[in-house]
Amino acid sequence: MDVRRRPLPSSGDRLKTQKLKNTESQSLFPLYLTNALFFTLFFSVAYFLLHRWRDKIRTSIPLHVVTPAEIAAIVSLIASAVYLLGFFGVASRASLDELSDDEIILKEDSRAPGPCPAALVESSPAKAKQFPLQSCVDSLNVTEKTKISLSHKTLDRVAEEKEVPLRHKTVDSLATKELSIPLPLKTADVAGPISLSHEDEETVQAVLSGSVPSYSLESRLGDCRRAAAIRHEAVQRLTGRSLEGLPVAGFDYESILGQCCEMPIGFVQIPVGVAGPLLLDGEEYTVPMATTEGCLVASTNRGCKAIHVSGGASSALLRDGMTRAPVVRFPSAQRAAQLKFFLEDPLNFDSLAVVFNKSSRFARLQSIQCAIAGKNLYMRFRCSTGDAMGMNMVSKGVQNVLDFLQSDFPDMDVIGISGNFCSDKKAAAVNWIEGRGKSVVCEAVIKEDVVKKVLKTSVEALVELNMLKNLTGSAIAGALGGFNAHASNIVSAIYIATGQDPAQNVESSHCITMMEAVNDGKDLHISVTMPSVEVGTVGGGTQLASQSACLNLLGVKGANKESPGANSRLLATIIAGSVLAGELSLMSAIAAGQLVKSHMKYNRSSRDISKVAS
Ligand code: ADP
Repeated sequence: MDVRRRPLPSSGDRLKTQKLKNTESQSLFPLYLTNALFFTLFFSVAYFLLHRWRDKIRTSIPLHVVTPAEIAAIVSLIASAVYLLGFFGVASRASLDELSDDEIILKEDSRAPGPCPAALVESSPAKAKQFPLQSCVDSLNVTEKTKISLSHKTLDRVAEEKEVPLRHKTVDSLATKELSIPLPLKTADVAGPISLSHEDEETVQAVLSGSVPSYSLESRLGDCRRAAAIRHEAVQRLTGRSLEGLPVAGFDYESILGQCCEMPIGFVQIPVGVAGPLLLDGEEYTVPMATTEGCLVASTNRGCKAIHVSGGASSALLRDGMTRAPVVRFPSAQRAAQLKFFLEDPLNFDSLAVVFNKSSRFARLQSIQCAIAGKNLYMRFRCSTGDAMGMNMVSKGVQNVLDFLQSDFPDMDVIGISGNFCSDKKAAAVNWIEGRGKSVVCEAVIKEDVVKKVLKTSVEALVELNMLKNLTGSAIAGALGGFNAHASNIVSAIYIATGQDPAQNVESSHCITMMEAVNDGKDLHISVTMPSVEVGTVGGGTQLASQSACLNLLGVKGANKESPGANSRLLATIIAGSVLAGELSLMSAIAAGQLVKSHMKYNRSSRDISKVAS
């Protein structure tokens, strides 16, 4: 729906309006009594007059002959009608005014999309730098459409937030431009109770009695939102537990059907913050992070700043291939070994690749690595998957090969398409050593004065802490891929924001952080090496509206048409760059002894939690 925005009232106007409303409410008190009185008066005199006129018609008395009682009744009727018309006219106008005010406030709030992103709406960072305001305006130009006209004041505020010159010439030319701005959901839409129709109520009863299975609601009703609302209500009644606070309205349930989540009853809201700009390989990125951990975004942001003022970070993608390892059993270890030799023979690779690659135009077999446990053979297939994270793709390819092998190895018993040598969503040395998904290394040299001024510590302290904490400490703990301070914090936050599979955070957060004094011991060389970053920009949760917006902010939304896989590879390097920033900042906070202090400030609510607890 297009809503045209009316000019914002000044704060003075607002005060006046507020005052007027207060005065009105005071003078009309008690309003409900006055209303009841006039309602009663209106209907009783109307009833009286109609009776009188019916009697006159029956007794043939002319209508215009009126008694004093009738005159009094007519006067009362007109008076009460005037009152009622006046009152409800004013009330409905007032409520309309209030609505507009609320909308304006909501729109005002929605105008702060964070620092001017580097990769705005498919525009290059260079472009964003050249035309700062235009790029900020473009950044608002996203999907759900509510057209508004921006006043000079509004544009100035946007400009202020983006740190661009005020009342620029461009601002004037843009002043009347109509923009598409995402409207925040109305409060009632998000948190308000959903009212169920009589028919819905019957369906709730049917679900409760078991005559309609809860899982079948979507297909039965053909309306995913109604299905979620009915299930939400049924769950509350069935468990006797309130779901208040878990919104149902305000989410596109069609978009998750058969792909992202079954039997939905609502959605959990996670705030998204931005860190950046992250200067990586000469480009700037504004990094979205979905988290409820205070300090995390602020800390990563500080790391980004330190990297930026030191000239930026650079990255290299070492490998790109998703893996899947089925387990098959033979009657003997000899037979298992025969298949292993067959699969590892370079002469057989091409024919196996042809079979495997039939699964998708993006899947390309890279290698098959085998491991034997007695009569059982584990075959770790690795393939490139374009811009998809690739689990589905690689599984399909593996199935093709297993079917193909069955004719030459009829005694092969396929135990499982996944035999955990893959290894998905578990900490495993095979991922740490061989890699899975994208293997990335990212580095930066942080200047001595930046370490002092921005990070409030010294190169020497950082190098020592890294050696004793991230390397020695983790070795003592028997860490597997955990030679870092908090890579998983950054990985998880970006994964959730961009629609990745958060469970893959386990191996995607494998990271070794290295620090070394360089340039005669003055500056700090820092690097993060991450062998198994599993990300995609198509498929799964990446196509959902919010997640897709976050990918768009990074300039990696969807499939890369010119070079399939380029978007997901870029996303992996951005994640490594962000981890670099996060490591730098947290390690500095620990080295400077600030960690506890800053967490107490940003990560501890000052609210009385005893009141919040039920
Ligand atoms: P995953 O393998 O990560 O689970 P899906 O199978 O859900 O991903 O999604 C990948 C789908 O997207 C495939 O059907 C594939 O054909 C399609 N696709 C379109 N463009 C690309 C691309 N550039 N890279 C990879 N897949 C793509």
